[in-house]
Amino acid sequence: MNTKNKFEFQPLPYSYDALEPYIDKLTLEIHHDKRHKAYYDNFLNAIKGTDMESMDIKNIFSNISKYPMAVRNNSGGYFNHTFYWKNMKAPGSELPTGKLSEAIVKSFSSFEEFKKQFSEAGKTRFGSGWAWLCLDDKGSLFICSTPNQDNPLMDIADKKGIPLLTMDVWEHAYYLKYQNKRPDYIDAFWNVVNWEKVSKRYETGLNSFK
Ligand code: MN
Repeated sequence: MNTKNKFEFQPLPYSYDALEPYIDKLTLEIHHDKRHKAYYDNFLNAIKGTDMESMDIKNIFSNISKYPMAVRNNSGGYFNHTFYWKNMKAPGSELPTGKLSEAIVKSFSSFEEFKKQFSEAGKTRFGSGWAWLCLDDKGSLFICSTPNQDNPLMDIADKKGIPLLTMDVWEHAYYLKYQNKRPDYIDAFWNVVNWEKVSKRYETGLNSFK
């Protein structure tokens, strides 16, 4: 079987300097080409010769507790980074629109309050991990964070959900530019969120309940 086609390592969907000045070129180069690539390579090694080679990644996640830690860490590292690159774009003044905008206000009372709670999830994640905006099994929005390379699609998640937006809060995501100041990176992150992409994920996620 050709696993290369099944689990693809995609190039960044923009140039390495596209997120400047909020996320710097060198950070993106190392983060994508070295760190993300290493998770990808290690993921393929970890599933080599197993049934997982022919499985959908979401199917792997929903059974992740049955598999070795190397699969959990590297499948998460592979998927989470792909998801993170795609929910960012060159800086703009774009805000959520349409159905997603309404759902955010309904769930969090305002966009500002949503930003505050999502930022807090990233700031308070002890050690390394990710902050997430997700859809729960009733189609409502919720914010959570996961340790290491875990994600809300995994069966070990505190609360499972369909991810819509993620933010990497590992030090490697910000240390070169922001050093120990994780909150400064989190403030900067809001300038590069691709709300169009997040809105599409929301509508696709909602459709999965129909
Ligand atoms: Mn990372």
